[in-house]
Amino acid sequence: APAPEKVANGQPSLDDLTMFTVQQRYAEEAAKRLRPDGLDQFLDIEAAISDRIRAMGRDIWADHAVLNGKPPAITDGGKYKFLILGAGYGGLLYAARLIDAGLARNADDLRIVDIAGGFGGTWYWNRYPGLHCDVESYTYMPLLEETGYMPKTKYAAGPELREHADRIATQWNLHDKALFRSTVKTAKWDDEAQLWDIEMQEDRGPDEPARDLRIQTQYFMVASGVITNPHMPRLPGIESFSGSMFHTSRWDYAVSGGSPDDSDLALTGLQGKRVGILGTGATAIQVVPQLAKWAKEVYVFQRTPSAVSWRGQKPTDPEEWKTKIANKKGWQRARMENINRAITGTLPAGEACVGPDGWTELTSYDGLIGSPRMARVEPSPDKIGAHVGRLLQSDLPHSERIRARVGQIVHDADTAARLRAWYPTWCKRPTFSDEYLQAFNLPHVHLVDTDGRGVEAATAGGLVAGGREYPLDILVLGTGYRAIGTGDGSPAVRTGVEIIGRHGVSMDDRWMNHGAATLHGVLMGGFPNFFTNGPFQHGSAANYIYLLDASIEHVVHIVAKAEARVGPGARAVVEVTSAAEEAWCYEVMKRAAGYAVLAGCTPGYITSEGGQRTTDPVEMMRKARLVPWSEGMESFVEVLETYRAEGSLAGIDVTAVS
Ligand code: FAD
Ligand code: NDP
Repeated sequence: APAPEKVANGQPSLDDLTMFTVQQRYAEEAAKRLRPDGLDQFLDIEAAISDRIRAMGRDIWADHAVLNGKPPAITDGGKYKFLILGAGYGGLLYAARLIDAGLARNADDLRIVDIAGGFGGTWYWNRYPGLHCDVESYTYMPLLEETGYMPKTKYAAGPELREHADRIATQWNLHDKALFRSTVKTAKWDDEAQLWDIEMQEDRGPDEPARDLRIQTQYFMVASGVITNPHMPRLPGIESFSGSMFHTSRWDYAVSGGSPDDSDLALTGLQGKRVGILGTGATAIQVVPQLAKWAKEVYVFQRTPSAVSWRGQKPTDPEEWKTKIANKKGWQRARMENINRAITGTLPAGEACVGPDGWTELTSYDGLIGSPRMARVEPSPDKIGAHVGRLLQSDLPHSERIRARVGQIVHDADTAARLRAWYPTWCKRPTFSDEYLQAFNLPHVHLVDTDGRGVEAATAGGLVAGGREYPLDILVLGTGYRAIGTGDGSPAVRTGVEIIGRHGVSMDDRWMNHGAATLHGVLMGGFPNFFTNGPFQHGSAANYIYLLDASIEHVVHIVAKAEARVGPGARAVVEVTSAAEEAWCYEVMKRAAGYAVLAGCTPGYITSEGGQRTTDPVEMMRKARLVPWSEGMESFVEVLETYRAEGSLAGIDVTAVS
């Protein structure tokens, strides 16, 4: 960070002094949290050796009796045109768009597979009390225009988000096309048949043996999400904890009382109990106020505070919905775009934000999701330094407001000081709540701030932080998910599938040893008819559905074009040329210097726990490939639209297999 430059009467200006002091504090706080073990400090729950820990990852929602009674949607030896991995909003959008485009007309054309026991993805697994989407539901819930559904509130609650997944499945007749409780293990491109060979295992519950299935598919769409695999810190002694323990993504209502579908959430199992929650990320922000309503004592174990802005939840006004929100064809995408412009500070003069909220008050979240100013940075130290300085300057008033807000809400000055977030907005997902900070005014809610060091250990009786043991009856792990950049961002690692492309090339080997390479973040050379949805080399947005919508629209266009080109009697094989892939990587890298702002971030899953920090030029080049499209979502969509309008599927080879 440059020292204060502007000198008035021989003295730096007050603004510059504040900036300098704040930057120093940011650096000090980040340094406290940098650990040599980086991503290795965490343990994937599903991969744990301990039975107790691994059991915390199992599907507690699946109704095995009902699912075992249904005819299987996928049969061993089956041959399909489209296999979609993931039955979340991404998988559902793929299915709906492929069907609407007339590409999956026959009953056997399309299948969906998911480890989960039902539709919803994130919203299937996560059922913790307090769960809501954090961006406006009017733009977050996919296909609202097509389903005609009006969300009940501005920020929909978990059950409504899950129901919406089922609504989409019903409208597009997907219930008998999805195989649940099934894990895709391997996907291998058969060079001879020019098809994907997929191996999966269906878990049929505790009373029936698992089934292994092997199928073939022409197209393989991976919609496995980015925040999917729950993880936890490798805490010494954690297995000896004698109380109840669960991860927020598998909330144990048998322990807490209540049910995920209760509107009044009576967590009576917490009454009289000492409940600890480990973690203070976006999940904990929603959970803590609920714990506070029922538990005898709540201990919130904090390593890094979240930045918490206001929420402003309200019911949807049907009149406003009809006249101002869902009032014309194409409204939902236009709304996503408008709000994204508001968040990235790119609304043109005269255009008002249609959905102002805490998000649209952010002044620098484009440091993560991209914007034109992020893309214009030349990769020289002085230009990068100036860019980082500019972004910090534009972030400062907002970050200061958020820090001041803590003091306005939390009565105890020491607790308030510890709840202030000392990092710029782009380093962590911002959070929004009108209840979280308020909870710390309650006498039975205790902040256990570890000053960046984290909890040290667990014992049979509770957690140890700062050398002191905190006795607990129940421990909630709000400790998040496997980081997006694990395995150098390989989509295969993210999905847990061994993916082998043309000539036996492993996707992991490609990404880990040669770096990320895609066309538009969706296609990869050597992996024909395989599609993913970024987020690397792809546009990014605060609203993940905007990203998915644009991505899937593009993929469906490519497939439709390819199918039309080969005609009805043949199978299309779509593969990006290495020249086109490299050209796209170059465009991404050319714009990547702006992402230097991430290097100084406090560690977290977005920055691979500090893994962005490097001075090795080769590593820097690899990292420059592993970023989103820095110019922002709108620019990304424009690039895709221009590409599609040109019409030739430039850089993509389409061959016909008879
Ligand atoms: P997911 O919903 O993650 O679905 C992927 C599915 O793939 C999962 O069901 C998984 O079981 C399945 N799968 C993975 N690997 C395999 C395999 N090998 N075999 C078979 N199946 C597999 N984003 C926002 O924009 N706004 C929000 O408010 C928001 N809130 C969130 C709240 C929580 C608690 C979490 C965890 C994430 C949130 N997100 C939010 C991010 C969210 O994940 C995305 O918005 C979106 O739901 C992702 O949809 P998806 O279908 O791509 O992935
Ligand atoms: P996060 O990864 O954001 O948070 C994990 C928390 O665990 C962090 O506070 C982390 O601290 C803490 N932690 C990890 N190890 C330790 C340790 N040893 N001691 C103390 N604390 C520790 O996970 P979340 O589930 O909260 O959120 C993940 C993402 O899911 C969000 O970023 C968001 O994108 C999405 N989400 C959205 C929601 C919404 O509002 N709709 C709700 C929930 C999630 P540290 O920060 O120091 O690493």
